[in-house]
Amino acid sequence: MSKKHRMTKQKRIIMEILRGTTSHPTADWVYEQARKQIPDISLGTVYRNLNNLKEMGEIMELCYGSSFSRYDGNPENHYHFHCLECGRVLDLDMPINRDLEKQVEESSGHKVERHRLEFYGVCCECNKKKQKQE
Ligand code: ZN
Ligand code: MN
Repeated sequence: MSKKHRMTKQKRIIMEILRGTTSHPTADWVYEQARKQIPDISLGTVYRNLNNLKEMGEIMELCYGSSFSRYDGNPENHYHFHCLECGRVLDLDMPINRDLEKQVEESSGHKVERHRLEFYGVCCECNKKKQKQE
């Protein structure tokens, strides 16, 4: 394993912070949490460690175009639901649709390795709040 990919104490703490939440936090949030355990850590170090962990396949980075990336302590492929009301990114407990990959391969001739699927709408909690208000 290269020096870059060694599991340092900082890296382990950052990974544990991510594994301990399902909120898909931004690097800033991870930084605030990490400072509680490593007071002199810098935001740059947090970013560097997040990138290393991503390269190691320990975590996932969820890129959303121009907005901030969010980080996911679960590196296995899974689907997400974005609430347009509260902004939360929620995990969906459903299997990866391999038929979709076959459809793409059959219609295009490309070899699919993986796919990412994001759903957008109003989460059940926001839906309940809306119904109460009406
Ligand atoms: Zn919501
Ligand atoms: Mn997730």
